[in-house]
Amino acid sequence: MNIIFLGAPGAGKGTQAEKVADAYAIPTVSTGNMIREALKNGTEMGLKAKAFIESGALVPDDVVIGIIKERLAKDDCAKGFILDGFPRTIPQAEALDAMGIVIDKVVDIEVPDEAITERMSGRRVCPDCGSSFHIVTKQPKVEGICDRCGAELVQRKDDKPETVADRLKVYHDQTEPLKGYYEAAGKLSEVDGIGTVEEIFDRVKAALEA
Ligand code: AMP
Repeated sequence: MNIIFLGAPGAGKGTQAEKVADAYAIPTVSTGNMIREALKNGTEMGLKAKAFIESGALVPDDVVIGIIKERLAKDDCAKGFILDGFPRTIPQAEALDAMGIVIDKVVDIEVPDEAITERMSGRRVCPDCGSSFHIVTKQPKVEGICDRCGAELVQRKDDKPETVADRLKVYHDQTEPLKGYYEAAGKLSEVDGIGTVEEIFDRVKAALEA
């Protein structure tokens, strides 16, 4: 099954994608994680993306489309994959179609802007494996430490309040139109993103199995 998670930054796409990945035994492909990894490793692509990611803007389509094309060609994606954070613009969605990739389900996690702003201030991420936690709603077993790999959790630079407002604007202007794109293709399911991680996961499963 090839799945896309849509939703504002901080809506819970990454958290739900990880749960679906475990349940269906397919990989999560997160362009945000791949770009942050490239940035950390100082690759050419990372350097190109730095100013965009830090200001909350989108990295240019051609750069992200290149990354995703390479990633989806790997063997582990052959049985299906979950896209978290891609596509984020209509040209990116068109590029996926042009690659001949058939998307089965698009799950849109809906969370109002006010709740997003509140959530982002508490989000903590693992700089090594990309896992995401929250200081109130998704606490790691040991405070400040990643459950998956034991690294020390950090706050993303672009989760600071001043950048979150810009990212929400980018979402509404450039990414939200994808809902119409996938609705027209008969693939969109909307899921209420307010509730516990487990409650939302039940809704996501129901959407995927519908
Ligand atoms: P995320 O972790 O998905 O919130 O992504 C963090 C940042 O990475 C975004 O604010 C963008 O700067 C960049 N990014 C991630 N995915 C994309 C994409 N599909 N298109 C453009 N920029 C992206």
